[in-house]
Amino acid sequence: MMLFDAHTHLNFEKFSDEERKALAQEIEESQLGYIIDVADCVQGAEQALQDADDYSWCYAAVGIHPDHASVYTDADIGAIRRLAAHPKAMAIGEIGLDYYYGTDDREEQQELFRKQIRLANELKMPIMIHSRDANQLTMDILTEEGAFSEERKSWFPGRPAPGTLSDTAFAHDMIVPGVYEGEYSYRHMKSGSEIIRLVPDARVQMHCYSGSPEMAEEYVKLGATISLGGPVTFKNGKKAAEVCRRIPAEFLLSETDAPYMAPEPLRGRPNKPHYVEHVVRRMAMIKGVSYGEMSRIFAENGKRFFDIP
Ligand SMILES: [Zn+2]
Repeated sequence: MMLFDAHTHLNFEKFSDEERKALAQEIEESQLGYIIDVADCVQGAEQALQDADDYSWCYAAVGIHPDHASVYTDADIGAIRRLAAHPKAMAIGEIGLDYYYGTDDREEQQELFRKQIRLANELKMPIMIHSRDANQLTMDILTEEGAFSEERKSWFPGRPAPGTLSDTAFAHDMIVPGVYEGEYSYRHMKSGSEIIRLVPDARVQMHCYSGSPEMAEEYVKLGATISLGGPVTFKNGKKAAEVCRRIPAEFLLSETDAPYMAPEPLRGRPNKPHYVEHVVRRMAMIKGVSYGEMSRIFAENGKRFFDIP
């Protein structure tokens, strides 16, 4: 069994070195194969890269979270550019918009977001998006800044088309037949004796996606990937469950956002990366496939998305 946590914070600033080491030990004893250790500021990015140096299963995303929009400097963007050159820095993130709290820094958030999309395009790197209470604006800014442009998609190998990774028929095949057919220009790639259909990939991860199922469908058609965490396991997480049901498994990732958002049955406790097991079990149930198959698909998706050898 190989689990993949596509968004987590081992670099969490409140962890002491001992706490971080103890958590890494727990991860090593679990079924977790890989984590993406996501930064929210320059200091976090430095710690995430330290973690990546310390642990073979740890890779980093470097970027400045919208919470820092009123305090970051251009020197910080320069530092992120420099840190992104580390061989285990696999994405720019987490970046985006958070309109849940006050309204006073909204312009600054947009500016910081745009600068970092441009940086990801300059460096031809995957992008990891945080979006809260700003769904349409997030999509508009990503589109305006070329995150879904044909040019960007040409930098990355395609991803398997819906239905090509599974051994079993997924629930969505029966519920919305044909939705994804004919909407892409398919390319063919020989992989051993198998023919895998590939569709364009913009390498944009919608972390802990909380928008509507309709918008999720729009995102994957643009070339984005939908990443689901704890909320898909919650009793009041019907929207996330519906997103999981409708979006083809090829366009989904599993994550925790630890230490936040612990999944059921651990809700309310500090979250840990290996608790992604509960997210994957729930998504397997929704998709009507085995836990083993779901784990394999998310590990393949994660490795492909972040270019992990
Ligand atoms: Zn996060």
